[in-house]
Amino acid sequence: MSMSILEPSRELPVQGAFDVIVAGGGIAGVTAAVAAARNSAKVCLLDKQSALGGLATLGNVTTWLPLCDGMGRQVIGGMGEELLKLSATGPRRGRTPACFRDIPPCWLPGGDVKERANTRYLTEFNPASYMLALEKLVVDSGVRLMYDTRFCALRREAGRVSHLIVENKSGRFALACGAVVDATGDADVCFLAGEDTESLDSNVLCGWFYTLRNGELEIQYLSNSFCPRATRAGGTGPFFRGDDGGQVTDQILKTRDLVRARLSGLRAQHPGEDVQIILPATMACFRMTRRLVGRHTLCEEHMHQWFDDAVGLAGDWRKAGPVYALPLRSLRAVRTPNLLAAGRCISADTTAWDMTRAIPVCAVSGEAAGTAAALAVRHAGSDVDALPIRVLQRQLESQGVLLDPSLVKPGGKPGG
Ligand SMILES: Cc1cc2nc3c(=O)[nH]c(=O)nc-3n(C[C@H](O)[C@H](O)[C@H](O)COP(=O)(O)OP(=O)(O)OC[C@H]3O[C@@H](n4cnc5c(N)ncnc54)[C@H](O)[C@@H]3O)c2cc1C
Repeated sequence: MSMSILEPSRELPVQGAFDVIVAGGGIAGVTAAVAAARNSAKVCLLDKQSALGGLATLGNVTTWLPLCDGMGRQVIGGMGEELLKLSATGPRRGRTPACFRDIPPCWLPGGDVKERANTRYLTEFNPASYMLALEKLVVDSGVRLMYDTRFCALRREAGRVSHLIVENKSGRFALACGAVVDATGDADVCFLAGEDTESLDSNVLCGWFYTLRNGELEIQYLSNSFCPRATRAGGTGPFFRGDDGGQVTDQILKTRDLVRARLSGLRAQHPGEDVQIILPATMACFRMTRRLVGRHTLCEEHMHQWFDDAVGLAGDWRKAGPVYALPLRSLRAVRTPNLLAAGRCISADTTAWDMTRAIPVCAVSGEAAGTAAALAVRHAGSDVDALPIRVLQRQLESQGVLLDPSLVKPGGKPGG
């Protein structure tokens, strides 16, 4: 049997033209698409799944990590804060499950500012209501949403991405684009555009899920131990790359075995109680798979360092104090002027990815990438490099993005 076949070339219909196409509808993709639409771009958001939110909803990763630096200073505003507020369950009526946590009162308007140094600005949300809310936000923003649509290939013209080639129930077709945001989590677009990418093989078995125990909703944080520096050191194997088709299924199947084992363990631990699984993760849960190697690779050394092309800030969810500025160069593709990455596949090395992959930081890079893409199409012939950085920064600030260099400095005033 021959080990390869030649796929016949064929003519593809072009089924739409957009200023900005966002591939992937996780938190980064949602923020990118909505930000681009709010900047007057005609936007298409496509996702291979049938719901928005990616890992945050389909993966049950329902902790919206902090918008603050742990010293009382808020460092993320803009859509990072808007989407955190959207995740909040609102005023408690009756018995709200302990696994849903609202915005801490000190972070509400008029809250105790001094308390902010002790209590981080985060939520724990309901994935089902959140996916409905994200969908409404996207549709109401005028974004053309395409579910069950997988990005498969691209066409380049004069060095740019001119079309994304996708497949869904209608078959294979092309979408013309002015600019593209790769929010696939796996840098699929960057990879197929011929950009340098790096893949990590240190993903472990994991998949959070919900149970009902005697009618009480609980979340089960199921994960083998992993190394926050994305190496196999200290992790519990087996290990996986998320960019290998066979391994994706293998990771899901082996994780489901762990789920069954955890359920048996819970039942043994609580004899006589009714323990039911109600919501397993419905997408592969990989923390870090493939990412762009951009012009600037963010790393731990850049903590407290301001960049002239900063497009957002981020704290560190693991400890109080560190603040990072995210430079546009970590989002920009190197060889393709109209391509940006957003979310967990931006250019960050293994010392920084555990910070850049956090949901709020994905929202920061998503808003920056979507805004940059829309402005580049409108003002710079789709060339992100030709867009003056101050124009982008001013626009982001007008959207509520925090871009104050003094916030990046260490030792912020509590409550400031
Ligand atoms: C077990 C685990 C625990 C975590 N814990 C936390 C936590 O407590 N708090 C926190 O803030 N972060 C946590 N994270 C990290 C965080 O969940 C993710 O990094 C973040 O949600 C990634 O968002 P994203 O939009 O970049 O990517 P994703 O959420 O992965 O979204 C990518 C989207 O792109 C779509 N897609 C992919 N390829 C294609 C394609 N070719 N065509 C079309 N669509 C495509 C996918 O369907 C998906 O919807 C955790 C992650 C894991 C795995």
